[in-house]
Amino acid sequence: MTKQAVIIGAGLGGLATAIRLAYGGWDVTVLEQGSRPGGKMNRFERGGFKFDTGPSLITLPHVFERLFKLGGVDFHKILSPVRLDPLFEYRFGSDARFTYSSQLPDLTAEFENFTGSTQDVDGLYRFLELGAKLYNLSEKTFFDRPPMAKPRLKDLPLLLGAPKRHAWGNYKKAVHRYFKNPHIRQIFERYPTYVGASPKDAVGMLALIPYMELAFGGWYVPGGLYRIVEELCEVALRVGIRFEYSSTVADIVTKSGSATGVVTTAGSFFRADAVISNADPGAIHRLTEGNAGRELKPEQRSMSGFVMLIGLNKKLQGLRHHTVCFSDDYDREFSQIFSERKFPDDPTVYVNVPSITDPSMAPVGGESVFVMANAPADTAPWTPEFEAEAVRRVRERLAKSGMPDFFVDARFIDCWTPAWLESEYSTPGGSIYGQVSHGWTGTVFRPSLKDRKIQNLFYVGGGTHPGGGTPTVLMSAEIVSEMVGGAAN
Ligand SMILES: Cc1cc2nc3c(=O)[nH]c(=O)nc-3n(C[C@H](O)[C@H](O)[C@H](O)COP(=O)(O)OP(=O)(O)OC[C@H]3O[C@@H](n4cnc5c(N)ncnc54)[C@H](O)[C@@H]3O)c2cc1C
Repeated sequence: MTKQAVIIGAGLGGLATAIRLAYGGWDVTVLEQGSRPGGKMNRFERGGFKFDTGPSLITLPHVFERLFKLGGVDFHKILSPVRLDPLFEYRFGSDARFTYSSQLPDLTAEFENFTGSTQDVDGLYRFLELGAKLYNLSEKTFFDRPPMAKPRLKDLPLLLGAPKRHAWGNYKKAVHRYFKNPHIRQIFERYPTYVGASPKDAVGMLALIPYMELAFGGWYVPGGLYRIVEELCEVALRVGIRFEYSSTVADIVTKSGSATGVVTTAGSFFRADAVISNADPGAIHRLTEGNAGRELKPEQRSMSGFVMLIGLNKKLQGLRHHTVCFSDDYDREFSQIFSERKFPDDPTVYVNVPSITDPSMAPVGGESVFVMANAPADTAPWTPEFEAEAVRRVRERLAKSGMPDFFVDARFIDCWTPAWLESEYSTPGGSIYGQVSHGWTGTVFRPSLKDRKIQNLFYVGGGTHPGGGTPTVLMSAEIVSEMVGGAAN
């Protein structure tokens, strides 16, 4: 008899697991509390302005290719992703600007122009070499299997050759060892924020992120990254996966210590031989016996964000697709977020204008502008006064960095606070990447892919192993599908 799988949540990890299991012969139902698929990888549209509300840049396209290939689809042919060059413009105060190319020769030249020496170029090459070693190690171990899996004999040379001191030392200290220019240091200190972490508390292991971005590129998909979700749903429907929207799972049903199905808030029962949760693991732990008290404490959560979606009535001149306007004191910014747990006085502001690369994202003569600043993942709602103050701080930073004032010509501004992200995606405090990757335990020992008490209950997505971010979520789906058994790979 065909085995039945129920997946809780149609986020990227839920969709990928559903597809892998369905191609492996499972009968799959996906229950999603929201009205559409995608979870944090979603879309907002108003008056012809289109926004990706979550990811704006993807890396490791081959991981996406692997998933699409299962459905007989060529990722590049169907979505025509564009490798962005330059990747970012970094702004420091009003004058200094750094154009971060994705081509090593151009990046090298920019390093030399910007710093007036070759010292940091040497640091760049050595830092990328470190990142490459860490990536190669991770690809064959951490990205490929559950964290506690026994080392395989064939991995031994890799493990023995691992740059351990750098991998498990402090990330910020590593950056300071490799780079001397304060602005270049700030550029590389930013990478742990890709997984919602602080450079002061992250481990050197995360040096693999800048390597991955340069080696495999940072990509945009015309029509918005949400096109990836739409195409995955096409694949899913073709292989017979059923989607039930506006269906919130309220209980995991067990018999003799094994999951046998789920019940929704509407009282519907869905039988299952395996239940795979794409929801935040803490939220599901609350539903299951024996898991009480295993939710993350606020200080264990990765960062949230304050997002502004701005429909702009005019075209912007001289801006890049991605701009980062750095705060004057990065250390203080992260202390405020993680220790004082408050929105920074001077936030680093990320500006993403996809309509610069892709005019289809905004009406003629307009731009869709996504603005984001990091914020602590705390549940308390912001008052309207505090939200207005946060907007003021963001505008102040943009002005100091010589950016246009988007807020003057805005047709609308839609603000998303951490509490809003929490309510939309059921992620505690609006935390974007689950458990924060601070220290080596926070980085390696993430919430388990398999429930410790209940048989046939699994977890997939950014809240589990290997961690948050779109490609790692897809890796999580690869590992979990193998664990569930019978998945196509
Ligand atoms: C503002 C922002 C910017 C980002 N930028 C990037 C980026 O540039 N690059 C990148 O790679 N990543 C980025 N990310 C992270 C990326 O979006 C996530 O890591 C990834 O999409 C998470 O996927 P997931 O599988 O963990 O599922 P999630 O997206 O967390 O989805 C989980 C789903 O489960 C559903 N659910 C929860 N509880 C229940 C329940 N009880 N019953 C039914 N359904 C339930 C939720 O509604 C949701 O749809 C960003 C995220 C955000 C929010």
